Amino acid sequence: MGYGYPGYAGRGLRLVWIYPDLLSTYGDRGNLLVLERRARLRGIPVDVTLVNSDQRVPPDGDIYLMGGGEDLPQILATRRLRADGGLGAAVHRGAVLFAVCAGYQMIGREFGGAEGQPMEGLGLLDIRSGRGERRGVGEVVADVDPALNVPRLTGFENHQGVTSLGPGAKPLARVLTGVGNGDGTEGAYAGRVLGTYLHGPALVRNPGLADLLLTWAAGPLQPLVPAAEELALRLRGERLAAVGS
Ligand code: GLN
Repeated sequence: MGYGYPGYAGRGLRLVWIYPDLLSTYGDRGNLLVLERRARLRGIPVDVTLVNSDQRVPPDGDIYLMGGGEDLPQILATRRLRADGGLGAAVHRGAVLFAVCAGYQMIGREFGGAEGQPMEGLGLLDIRSGRGERRGVGEVVADVDPALNVPRLTGFENHQGVTSLGPGAKPLARVLTGVGNGDGTEGAYAGRVLGTYLHGPALVRNPGLADLLLTWAAGPLQPLVPAAEELALRLRGERLAAVGS
C-alpha cells in the first residue's frame, strides 16, 4: 500500500457490478475481475459489490460496471435502474461508469426496444441507439481517441443496435475492423462515463482501458511488473493477429 489515495483512507476502492442477474453476457463479469486484480496488484484495497435487480444500487461506489444483455432483460434493467436512482446519483457525484453493449445503450438517452420501438434510457451519456438493419457480429479492432492514451482496442461484438452520439459525448475509438456504433466509430465517453460495444471481455483484452478507469477513480497508477501482464498481452496479441491487425 503506501499510496495514500485521498478519500480511500479506511476503505477500499468500491467496485459495483450492476445487475449480474440481467446484464452479463459473454463473460462481461471478467471486466470486474480485471479491475479488482489490477487495483490489488498496486496495493489498492478493493471492495466488490454485486447488485442484483431486486436490490438497491449503492450510491457511494467508485466504479460502476454494466454488461451486455438480451433485449428483454435490457428493458427490465432500465426500468428498475430508473426507479432506483442510485446509479444516476453516483454518476452526478463523479463516480466512474463503464458500460458494455446493452449497458452502453441503456445509459444513453434512448435505445431500440424488442420491436425497435424507442425506449427511454437513463440519460447518463449523450447517445441515442436504435435497431440497425443487420446484427454486428464478430471481432472488432479500433483505435482509441489519442486524448485517452490507450492502445488499440480488440474485442468481440454481437448487437443489433446502432448508436449515434450527441454533442455531449465523444467517440471512444475509430473502427478498423467491425461495426461498433455503425458510423465508423466505436463506443463513447464524457467525463468519467464510458460505454463500448466490446465484449471479450473488453478489460481483459484491453488492460489499458482498465487502467484508464482505475486512474479516473484512484489517480495516477504504478506500472505493473511485466510478469503480471504476460497472459493479457498474449491474449491481446492472439486476438489482434486473428484479424490481421
Ligand atoms: N440487445 C442489444 C442489441 O442487440 C444489446 C446486445 C448485447 O448486449 N450483446 O443491440
